Amino acid sequence: MEIVAVPAFADNYLWLIHDEASGETAVVDPGDAAPVLTEAQKRGWTITQVWNTHWHPDHTGGNLAIREAAGAKVSGPATETIPGRDVDLREGDEVRLGNHVGRVIEVPGHTLGHIALIFDEDRVAFVGDTLFAMGCGRLFEGTPEQMYRSLQRLTALAPETRLYCAHEYTLSNARFAAHAAPHDAPIAARLAEVEQQRAKGERTVPTSVAQELATNPFVRAPDAAEFARLRRDKDSFRS
Ligand SMILES: [Zn+2]
Repeated sequence: MEIVAVPAFADNYLWLIHDEASGETAVVDPGDAAPVLTEAQKRGWTITQVWNTHWHPDHTGGNLAIREAAGAKVSGPATETIPGRDVDLREGDEVRLGNHVGRVIEVPGHTLGHIALIFDEDRVAFVGDTLFAMGCGRLFEGTPEQMYRSLQRLTALAPETRLYCAHEYTLSNARFAAHAAPHDAPIAARLAEVEQQRAKGERTVPTSVAQELATNPFVRAPDAAEFARLRRDKDSFRS
C-alpha cells in the first residue's frame, strides 16, 4: 500500500492510503476535507473509506464532506461521537483496504475511546494522537496508567513497524527528551537530526517502534508513576 502525507492546519498530517490492486483509497483522521480531496483527485484516486482514531475535530472535521463528495464509508471508535460514522470499531475488529487487513486495538489515554489501526503484514500502524515521535499525546480524558499501557502495546509491535502519528511535534518532543535525559547519546543524536530535518522543512514522521524504544522518554519510562511525572513536566515545558 502507498501512504501519502497530506499536511493540514498548523501541524497535522492526514494520511491517505492507496491500494493499487483493488483501487481502494482510505484516509486516516481527515480533520479537513479540502486538502485530502484535492490530493486524491490529483492522483486519480477516489476515497472509499474514512478511518478515525478519535473524536477530536482536527481528526474528524472533514468526515461528512468526504463522505458526501466521494461516497466514502466512515469507520471510527464505537464509544466516541464520530460525525457520519457508518461502522463502529472496537478492540479486535478489522478494517480492510483491498487485501490489506488492519486490526483495531483500543489505546485509551489521550481520549477514552482512542483506537489504533495495526497492519501487521505491512508493518504499519496508524496511532493518531497516542504516540508521537519522541513523545505522546496529552492526557485529556484518560489516566497515566491507561496511556502508559497504550504506549507499551504500540511499542510491543515488530521493531521495524512504521508508526504514523497525526502531528509534526517531533522537534519540541526531542527538546523535551534531551531536557529529561540530558546525557543520553541516542536522544542527543536524534535531536540533532530532527533539528536539521526541520530546518530544511522535512517531515520527521512516520517513526518506527525501534526508534521510539531507543529515544522516547515516555515509552522508556520504567513504570506508570515515572510516566506520569514526565507527562506533567512536558505539559509545562517550553522549548
Ligand atoms: Zn487529539
